Amino acid sequence: MKISITVDMEHDCLSAPKSYRGVVEGTPVLLRLFGERGIKATFFTTGEVARLFPDTVRDIVDAGHELGCHGDTHARFSTIGPDTARQEIGDATRTLRAFFPLTSFRAPNLDFPNAYLPFLKDAGYRLDSSQARYKRGTIFAGPSHADGMIRIPVSTMPSVVRLPRTARRAVFARLKDPVVLYFHPWEFVDMTRAKIPYDCRFNTGEPALRSLEDAIGYFAARGAAFRTMRELAA
Ligand SMILES: [Zn+2]
Repeated sequence: MKISITVDMEHDCLSAPKSYRGVVEGTPVLLRLFGERGIKATFFTTGEVARLFPDTVRDIVDAGHELGCHGDTHARFSTIGPDTARQEIGDATRTLRAFFPLTSFRAPNLDFPNAYLPFLKDAGYRLDSSQARYKRGTIFAGPSHADGMIRIPVSTMPSVVRLPRTARRAVFARLKDPVVLYFHPWEFVDMTRAKIPYDCRFNTGEPALRSLEDAIGYFAARGAAFRTMRELAA
């Protein structure tokens, strides 16, 4: 079994105006853990984050992880027209390619109209990870090809990693190859007192980090090979 650990780098959950505690405080925690375990992950990053926190993005790339594109402003692609969609992709790609030769993309909110796939191909992407195996209609869908792109869906909702151990492992036991886990850096910052929905704030901070360590141990013990998304696509 192959597994890819992916991190969506954006502003904190539902923050308005946007705050970035996750990027600033959560990223170093994740980089330390991945470094200790020898895991290379994929960080899907918005152009906005890369412009505001270039040193953080350099730390990610210098540690050998893959940088992917997560749109420019985290706008939801199904709510914007084709011209704005092209611009979101173009702006983010220009910003992020200064750090890394991007080939992987994931849309914010896992919401990307099929009609926009050619925009990704035109911008030089080879992999789209905007689909979800757990969503209605795509629940059993594995990797597929469309419009010259390979599409590799995420396997679970991000908050699965923060579930109690038994519940979390019950979900993991049902996952199909390749497993794509995803979460956000703000989940590794204590958000339990923030005025955000419960599923955003439960078990954030230290408990999330311990859960992620346990999840990595779970898959490692089963002989799973940790790969970046780019490596999965190859
Ligand atoms: Zn996102």
